[in-house]
Amino acid sequence: MEKHHVKPMISEKDVNRRIQELGEQISKDYAGKTIRLICVLKGGSFFMCELAKRISCDVTLDFMSVSSYGGDTKSSGVVKIVKDLDESIKGKDVLVVEDIVDSGRTLSYLLSMLNDRQPASLKLCTLLDKPERRVVDVKVDYTGFEIPDAFVVGYGLDYDQIYRNLPFIGEVVFD
Ligand code: 5GP
Repeated sequence: MEKHHVKPMISEKDVNRRIQELGEQISKDYAGKTIRLICVLKGGSFFMCELAKRISCDVTLDFMSVSSYGGDTKSSGVVKIVKDLDESIKGKDVLVVEDIVDSGRTLSYLLSMLNDRQPASLKLCTLLDKPERRVVDVKVDYTGFEIPDAFVVGYGLDYDQIYRNLPFIGEVVFD
C-alpha cells in the first residue's frame, strides 16, 4: 500500500448531527408509512444503521451487494449483482442508502433495475456526494454532505478494505 495518511474532513460530531437531521426529515416525509431501507454493501452499512436509528417511522431492512464489471462495460455502469435482495420490493416504499455518489454510474444502473421491480416509491439517500465528478445524471433525494473531488474514507468507506470503521470522514493524502 502506498505511503499515505488520513486527513480529517468531517468530524464525528458533524456527521452525527447531519444524520440526525436527515432522520428527522425522512421521518416527516414518510409519516405513517413503512420504509424499506436498502443498504448497498459494504460501504452503506455504517450509514444505514445510524440513519435507521434516527427514523421514527417503521422500517424494514434489506441488503444488496454489487460489483462493477471490468473492461469496457465499466464505463457503462453495468454492475453485477453479487448479492440480491432477500425480499420483493413490489409495492414498497423503498429508500436506497448509499455511502457516496461519485460518477453516478453505479446508482443510475441500480435505481433503474430496482424501478423495474415496481416499488410504490423509490428514493435515494447518500451520506456523501461529489457533484463535480458526475458523469451520469442521478436524482439524489437526501444528501448528507457535498464534498470536493477527493478520495475519502471512514463511516463505511474503505481504502483497500481498511478504514471503514473510522467514526469520521477523512481524506486519503499520499505522502
Ligand atoms: P459511482 O458509480 O458513483 O462512480 O461510484 C460509486 C462507488 O465508488 C461508491 O459506492 C464507492 O464504492 C466508490 N467511491 C467513489 N468515491 C469514493 C471515495 O472517495 N472513497 C471511497 N472509499 N470509495 C469511493
